[in-house]
Amino acid sequence: MKWICFFLYLLTLMLTAPAWAQSAAFASLEAPGPLDAGSEYSTIGEHSYYLHETEAGISIEQARQAFANGRFQASTTPVPGFGLTSHGAWLKFDVQNSTERAVTRRLTVKSAWLNYIDIYIIQHNQRVAHYKTGDARPLSSRQIDNRLFVFEHDFAPGTTAVYLRAQSHEPLVLPIAFSDTATAVKHDRNRSYGYGILYGIISGLLLFNLLIYISIRQQRYLFYVFYLSMYLFMDISYTGHGYLYLWQDASWWQQWSASTSVVLYATSGIFFALSFLKIKTFFPAIYSKTIRFCIFLCAMQLLFILLDMEKTSVAIALLYVMFFSVFTFYYAIISFNKGHNDAIYYLIATFATLIGAAVTVLSVLSLIPYTPLTFHAGEIAVAFDSILLSIALAEQIRRAQNEMLQAQKLARTDILTRLSNRLAFDEISGQIWNNAVQNDQDLCFLMLDIDHFKEINDNYGHHAGDMVLKTLSSILKKTVREGDVLVRWGGEEFAIILPQTSLQPAIKLAERIRKEIENLQIKTDGAIIKTTVSIGVSQKTDSTATIDELFSMADANLYKAKQGGRNAIYNTRGNNECPEK
Ligand code: GH3
Ligand code: MG
Ligand code: MG
Repeated sequence: MKWICFFLYLLTLMLTAPAWAQSAAFASLEAPGPLDAGSEYSTIGEHSYYLHETEAGISIEQARQAFANGRFQASTTPVPGFGLTSHGAWLKFDVQNSTERAVTRRLTVKSAWLNYIDIYIIQHNQRVAHYKTGDARPLSSRQIDNRLFVFEHDFAPGTTAVYLRAQSHEPLVLPIAFSDTATAVKHDRNRSYGYGILYGIISGLLLFNLLIYISIRQQRYLFYVFYLSMYLFMDISYTGHGYLYLWQDASWWQQWSASTSVVLYATSGIFFALSFLKIKTFFPAIYSKTIRFCIFLCAMQLLFILLDMEKTSVAIALLYVMFFSVFTFYYAIISFNKGHNDAIYYLIATFATLIGAAVTVLSVLSLIPYTPLTFHAGEIAVAFDSILLSIALAEQIRRAQNEMLQAQKLARTDILTRLSNRLAFDEISGQIWNNAVQNDQDLCFLMLDIDHFKEINDNYGHHAGDMVLKTLSSILKKTVREGDVLVRWGGEEFAIILPQTSLQPAIKLAERIRKEIENLQIKTDGAIIKTTVSIGVSQKTDSTATIDELFSMADANLYKAKQGGRNAIYNTRGNNECPEK
């Protein structure tokens, strides 16, 4: 366990090392300068001033006044963040167009969950444009049809001031990119490919596990399907895909989908963890407490929706999802300590998700640089997590199947002699019979019974009898060819089915067996036992209608061999083939 944590720690360090290096570079940045209209910026925080409103919202005029009075502060982070706040926040930055003509540039606000965004463009002290959108406003308010908030403006030569006001019940973070239209479109497309891959992986795994659930009906697969579905629901909620493609213009639902999806994601994740980690079996008290806690939180969310307490709902949902990560991690540890080895998959998966989430949060807080890789680390980790857990679930099926095969094999094996038993014989003999009939091939059958075995038991004890049975079994096993089927028919009787074998070789084999056993001295505790066997041989002929007839003929021949004085072989033709006797 320790080395796995260490390995993951190293991996994180390696992945984020370039980011740390860049982070140091940011620290040396000076007071915010204007954006150069000719350049591309993946984040504009370091070129901005910000003001966090305290009471009721302020107007653009008041904001400009506040800026003039020096009440705005220089942002030190590339992604300005204000946490969970219902107050609005302002960003102010300048765009410098050093050319002779106006240039079209795009601003992309990448937090798709923000309720209100207003952008004021000020030139020569005049407000020249006001763009407003946000997911509390209808889609038609968007200047550009996009899941993110995209604004396009023709920046006139010279300096243009941009004031951006954002307000939301969800975390107020402002990752904003600035570039020309073609570059912005290219980044949009790349992000779409990324989400295509992520959603493709999750949907594929979802379908795969759903099919497994349909065929084997084990609860944990259903919980996993719910968990993946809720992840998708949560992801499309906060990335704006849902609003743009699924619940277009249902802005009431858009307001609630983020927190509701987080609550459902955490709940389904906890249910899956409980089931996967067998918490109900190992820790019934923790199990029932957790279930009650989840039901309580879902009920709270419903109450928040009914009472329209959006801000509280978001705060509780975020706390809940933190609870979910930490507690399922804890469940995995206690389950692993109870000897549930599969918990290790869960531990690694959760650890990866936690690291991914941490990298995303750190990048948003600009404690490490904000790059596409660091910002999306949480989502990459989720894809990894989902694949790993699916492997674990598939592994459980493989193991169950092996156990079943093992059980099937055990049910077809005689415990004492380790030979196949009648059940195994019944399953295979029909097929051998059909083959022989269809291809008109020879088929012989030997029925073998130990002579006076009861006396061995009586004289030397049951244990000695068992030893004799075992010894004879191993001799028979060595004597038959591959393709012959040897079984313990019952008691002290054995049977051998000989495919593609005519009567003469069958008799020869029977004779070899008879002689070998006749000459055998079986050493048991304190005694040397000698024994003999009688064998009935039968052969499939044109008049043999069924396999049972073949058995009956061998049985009848065995009876004749016994009648004839034992230690003998009788065959289909009735004559006692035992030349040397
Ligand atoms: P025959 O030559 O006519 O076959 O005489 P027999 O004594 O061998 O036949 P009988 O059917 O009278 O007795 C078979 C004995 O085999 C009776 C039973 O207790 C014993 N037996 C059956 N299965 C086992 C076993 O697994 N272990 C031991 N030690 N004895 C067994
Ligand atoms: Mg016997
Ligand atoms: Mg018998």
